[in-house]
Amino acid sequence: MKQFNFILFGPPGAGKGTQAKTISSKFNIVHLSTGDMIRETKDDPVLSKYLVSGQLVPDEVIVEIVMKRLQKEDCKEGFLLDGFPRTIFQAQELDSFLKKLSRRVSAVFYIDISQEEIMKRLLRRRVCSKCGGSFNIELNPPKQEGFCDFCGEKLIQRKDDNIDTIKERLCVYEKQTKPLIKYYEEKGCIGRIDGAVSVDKVFKQIEDFVKNNIKIEGYFG
Ligand SMILES: [Zn+2]
Repeated sequence: MKQFNFILFGPPGAGKGTQAKTISSKFNIVHLSTGDMIRETKDDPVLSKYLVSGQLVPDEVIVEIVMKRLQKEDCKEGFLLDGFPRTIFQAQELDSFLKKLSRRVSAVFYIDISQEEIMKRLLRRRVCSKCGGSFNIELNPPKQEGFCDFCGEKLIQRKDDNIDTIKERLCVYEKQTKPLIKYYEEKGCIGRIDGAVSVDKVFKQIEDFVKNNIKIEGYFG
């Protein structure tokens, strides 16, 4: 049975959301964005405190949300995690959860991009509040200015896409999330993807990594 248990990894603003949509449709697996899962429960008073300040939600809370989601039927043949794990603790929890199901992480796509580029991109990002579609007013503008290509809803600038919050998020990423690169390098399942190129070229690298590193009989002919 084919099973793509993928993780999309990289700093905020690396273009994970856009790549996730393509990966999910090309490999026919469900896209699980922690951001979306959190926003779905944003009215929870404990959660909203973290969201407003741009801090990370505590590990235990995130792990619980994600593990619950992974048990659903649509994850049986694979999934793409986007925004999780963000800490070594979360990665270890994920590994032991999958082990119980006789599964494991098949590949981690690490989208690598400079801080200057991230800053530029995040300030120009506009997102759809309805379907999560993500655009860049310069690099990847919507067909109709101000409206989502996928569902037609109005586009907004996320509250946490401002200079101070971006700096804070990058700082947290460097400290808590970047150590995961080494964690997955030791497991031999991580591919470094150059994120400074066009959307299509980023996906091409991801596809090549899967073709060259994941042996799934019959899948690539
Ligand atoms: Zn939309």
